[in-house]
Amino acid sequence: MGGGAALERLVYVDGRFYPKDEAKVSVFDHGFLYGDGVFEGIRAYGGRIFRLGEHLRRLYDSAKAIMLEIPIDAGAMQEIVLESCRRNGIRDGYIRLVVSRGQGDLGLDPRKCPRATVVCIAGTIALYPEELYTQGMRVMTVATRRNGVEHLNPRIKSLNYLNNILAKVEANQAGYAEVLMLNDQGLVVECTADNIFIVKGRRLMTPPLWLGILDGITRAAVMELAAGAGLDVREDVFTRLDVWTADECFLTGTASELVPVVECDGRRIGAGRPGPITADLIGRYRALYAGEGVEI
Ligand code: PMP
Repeated sequence: MGGGAALERLVYVDGRFYPKDEAKVSVFDHGFLYGDGVFEGIRAYGGRIFRLGEHLRRLYDSAKAIMLEIPIDAGAMQEIVLESCRRNGIRDGYIRLVVSRGQGDLGLDPRKCPRATVVCIAGTIALYPEELYTQGMRVMTVATRRNGVEHLNPRIKSLNYLNNILAKVEANQAGYAEVLMLNDQGLVVECTADNIFIVKGRRLMTPPLWLGILDGITRAAVMELAAGAGLDVREDVFTRLDVWTADECFLTGTASELVPVVECDGRRIGAGRPGPITADLIGRYRALYAGEGVEI
């Protein structure tokens, strides 16, 4: 870099870009008061946005599920994401798109919020330390159960992340970077911010959407890649025991990509180091995002 000042971060809020410290929303915004809103976490790689169409679709679907009317269409939203990257000089980064219910009164009623608030923050994200990718991650199961589909369906990527945060608090107390969550039947669903896969032989398994998980964009990409690699890809229910006795296990997420898991609840998974199928899929995922995306 030359001697010039570092680029000041600009954040989009409702039609304008503001310097980071001036980017604000009202204390009467129901996103703040009640966690009433939806969001997306999106990655840029090499000057292109990975799976932007899928992220926008999920954002609008989440909004529809909570009857939140987004005041702009997906084309305009895409332009906001791209412009946020351009203005911040982002070619490799992480973009947070937030649509909240907007300003209302102190009651819950969303009808009191005439217009949704749209925020776009383009920045970077600290991934897990590199050694977790090379050595593999340890996870444990937490007591906090994942929301059920009839309570707050985890397919809605809402601003209400307290269920995940309660699990994260348990993770922090126990000294784990990520933890496994079960549903109220004790079936494996997902982690606080990642989907989960297990490998047994040439079979790759991940919990089905109906069980109550986020329809992860990385999860979908990995399922395509695995099918292309000739693996037998299945969405099926499984228990902690299946994780303990798997040959391999890994987590997927936009921020974390693919993270090998080598221990769960004190049980070593497979050989206790990242396995060959996980390593192969990591390579395929990197090649995938290097070769596609919406140009910034
Ligand atoms: N599950 C949860 C609860 C998450 O918050 C995330 C991160 N968005 C994921 C799974 C992974 O989804 P994606 O691959 O779309 O980032």
